[in-house]
Amino acid sequence: MSRVYNFSAGPAVLPEEVLREAAEEMMDYKGSGMSVMEMSHRSKVYDTIIKEAEADLRDLMQIPDNYKVLFLQGGASQQFAMIPMNLMKNKKAAYIVTGQWAKKAWKEAQIYGEAVSVASSEDQTFSYIPDCSDLDIPDDADYVYICENNTIYGTKFKELPNTKGHTLVADVSSCFLSEPVDVTKYGVIYGGVQKNIGPAGVVIVIIREDLITEDTLPGTPTMLKYKTHADAASLYNTPPAYGIYICGKVFKWLKRMGGLSAIKECNEEKAKILYDFLDESSLFRGTVVKEDRSLMNVPFVTGSDELDAKFVAEAKAAGLENLKGHRSVGGMRASIYNAMPKEGVEKLVAFMREFEEKNR
Ligand SMILES: *Cc1c(COP(=O)(O)O)cnc(C)c1O
Repeated sequence: MSRVYNFSAGPAVLPEEVLREAAEEMMDYKGSGMSVMEMSHRSKVYDTIIKEAEADLRDLMQIPDNYKVLFLQGGASQQFAMIPMNLMKNKKAAYIVTGQWAKKAWKEAQIYGEAVSVASSEDQTFSYIPDCSDLDIPDDADYVYICENNTIYGTKFKELPNTKGHTLVADVSSCFLSEPVDVTKYGVIYGGVQKNIGPAGVVIVIIREDLITEDTLPGTPTMLKYKTHADAASLYNTPPAYGIYICGKVFKWLKRMGGLSAIKECNEEKAKILYDFLDESSLFRGTVVKEDRSLMNVPFVTGSDELDAKFVAEAKAAGLENLKGHRSVGGMRASIYNAMPKEGVEKLVAFMREFEEKNR
């Protein structure tokens, strides 16, 4: 068996410990005589799995009791619609457009009501986070929406926007569990787990209870109402059962690692290795404003498309995979999520150094 260092933006690297445990439990989960993939989601065994997953997540993020944790499907993209369908009581919301995912969410919301862009960084190809300390937010806006970490462009909100009392909704797909968060500052925190937590197919929504109501937009399908899933503790219908089981293992792994403060320190250390090199390199350079750099997704370029392609190909041959930038922006991107070991980043930087020597 040989594993590569996988810098994919998502689906992405998972902790080896978790994969090993899952492999060991594949044929016979804890004496049940079957794999977790084969068991009823209504069984006692599975009930323990989903309840423990929720309890561990609550513990890790210190989620207050007045927030529900929902394990859903449909990808982060389905939330682009579910959020307005459930929260747009006044049919108005404010969007901060800091990348493609935020833009998609903003466009989707326009189907359901007036979605106003109150700030954007599109003028500089989303290479920075706009100043959000004093935005012109409509008084009757139902919520303010952000994409907290911009997976494609590699920027991150270091400070949450001043929502002027409005509910904050955040897509945290690519920074989920990368650092401690104050859940009370948000109305909704959600993300697809395939970036920083688990396998594709699970979306976690953490939502304040008062936002879960029957009063959704007319025509909202039962499956797209938060209330449906909150009332049934994520078991209204068959949940993405195996994916939730793997997420649960990752939560336990994070707890063993020391929790979110500890993982933040690791993430800062890893990111520093790469950013320090980018700042001193004569060939490579990072593409975003320093203050807004993401700890998770690090885009960089050489300045030549040809050299970029050569780099990606040679890196792959050296066991450093998925370094090609998003198809919309080109260049390179190293996603260095929680499960990427420090050695992976060190190997990458050593390889970049060597590449620079050879291609001066
Ligand atoms: C990947 C990603 C999405 C889209 O996720 P899907 O699960 O594929 O719908 C949305 N937002 C962010 C920030 C992402 O990184």
